[in-house]
Amino acid sequence: MPESIFQKDLDKTQANFQPQTPLSYLDWAASVYPDKVAVIHGDRQFTYAAFRERCVRLASALTGLGVGPGDTVSFMAPNGPPLLEAHYGVPMAGAVLNALNFRLDASTIASLLNHAETKVLVTDREFSAVISQALEQTDHAIIVIDIDDPLASGGAFIGQTDYESLLSKGDPQFAWTMPADEWQAISLNYTSGTTGEPKGVVYHHRGAFLNAMGDILSFGLNRNTVYLWTLPMFHCNGWCFTWAVTAVAGTHVCQRNIVPGEIFLKIKHNKVTHMCGAPIVLNMLVHAADDQKTRFPQTVEVATGGAAPPSAIIAAMEQMGFNVTHLYGLTECYGPSTVCAWQDEWGELELAEKASLMARQGVRYPTLFDQAVMAPETMTPVPADGKTLGEIMLRGNTVMKGYLKNPKATTDAFRGGWYHTGDLAVLHGDGYVEIKDRSKDVIISGGENISSLEVEEVLYKHAQIMEAAVVARPDEKWGETTCAFVDLKPGADSLSQTQVIDYCRAHLAHFKTPRTVIFGPLPKTSTGKIQKFVLRERAKDLT
Ligand code: ADP
Repeated sequence: MPESIFQKDLDKTQANFQPQTPLSYLDWAASVYPDKVAVIHGDRQFTYAAFRERCVRLASALTGLGVGPGDTVSFMAPNGPPLLEAHYGVPMAGAVLNALNFRLDASTIASLLNHAETKVLVTDREFSAVISQALEQTDHAIIVIDIDDPLASGGAFIGQTDYESLLSKGDPQFAWTMPADEWQAISLNYTSGTTGEPKGVVYHHRGAFLNAMGDILSFGLNRNTVYLWTLPMFHCNGWCFTWAVTAVAGTHVCQRNIVPGEIFLKIKHNKVTHMCGAPIVLNMLVHAADDQKTRFPQTVEVATGGAAPPSAIIAAMEQMGFNVTHLYGLTECYGPSTVCAWQDEWGELELAEKASLMARQGVRYPTLFDQAVMAPETMTPVPADGKTLGEIMLRGNTVMKGYLKNPKATTDAFRGGWYHTGDLAVLHGDGYVEIKDRSKDVIISGGENISSLEVEEVLYKHAQIMEAAVVARPDEKWGETTCAFVDLKPGADSLSQTQVIDYCRAHLAHFKTPRTVIFGPLPKTSTGKIQKFVLRERAKDLT
């Protein structure tokens, strides 16, 4: 084949090819809107110029502590300026941000700090007890920095210095550099996985840049956006909204905890336009006491995902002055990859009918290359009949680099050239996907993933328990809760439900602890495998 005219003398140079990175969004916002309010937290606020300066100081100070390219910096913090700044300051130092789920227990945190080989840990004083315990179990030295948030309750200082002092040591003129390669890691987010072993999902700059763009396009952000942080920033980097809101020079309004009264007040006073949250957050807003529901004049765009939102919740939110967008995604694909994109005809439908169409997970983000529902054994697409079940598969530039130090799990997740989500869905005639079930063994309670295996492992360690299996029990408030089926050893003393729950609570994070314990022999196949589907049915019938 002769060389095409387009293959000649048209090379990639620095003038026409640069790595895509969300760090460029901060530079842009700070140069175009330096005086605009970027971040609000309680009675503190920072302009874009000040926000950028704090991020540069952080990068400089981390470099001063010996943090270099490819090192991990972990954060144990609720939503607030430090964790938001970390999304820029850490990668500006060439390092990788690992935002921890602050609901985890000490031994899990220790195992994550070990696995991530964390060099610096920045921790909010509210979590000093659990972090002190975790640090006793780590296998290497970690530099600890405290965040002294005036809005934190309790806790002690356990680090070498505090975050604000660290920033004051940083050089505001620090000569940080953009990543040389967009494939470079930007963050590390642990997911519970299905095996009980947490998996470290690695994101690159390119994916973070693109998924933030996907958020902007799918959720309609612009320079008038006032974004309320009701979604934890530790969930997939706040589903990439940590970067997306900055890309439009919107205002980040921080929210440490889900307190409905505070949220309604902020919506009104800060003129909030957009927010995100798992269905449980919406549920809490819907069921807040009337005197907490401060009324607001604007319509607030709210995106929900992380678990299936019941259509009743969508309908109730719309009645309260919110416009709901339904997103679907996983940690492995930078948070949201899929949106139930609005169609104008739906506006004419009855609220209930409209809400049930919106409860479907939908179509791919415009920034995701491809999404399909396929039979996983043959990798053939299912017909668009709304009936045939297949697995949701994703591929493109907003799928993780892979699992840290786990090539086997990475290869397995990417078999056949697609990322296998483990979510079972049907494809409707209009091209929208709808999740019906999961092929992976996870329970999703209040938007948090719980590995059933991890809970089972704890139960199996109890001296009186012979066999245990854990499944999801449908729950109106939490979506699902953990339900344990337990068979005691022959001759064992009897155990009460409370005893089993108290035992689990001592060994697991609070949200993972079973709410229900059922005693008796477990149903098995002829080969002795526990029949989880039978238990799932039994758990359903309990409600
Ligand atoms: P996230 O932090 O977004 O919750 P996880 O990786 O912890 O991501 O959980 C991803 C899983 O959550 C998905 O595989 C799916 O089972 C479930 N999930 C996420 N979004 C939805 C949704 N909109 N509807 C139903 N299930 C969902």
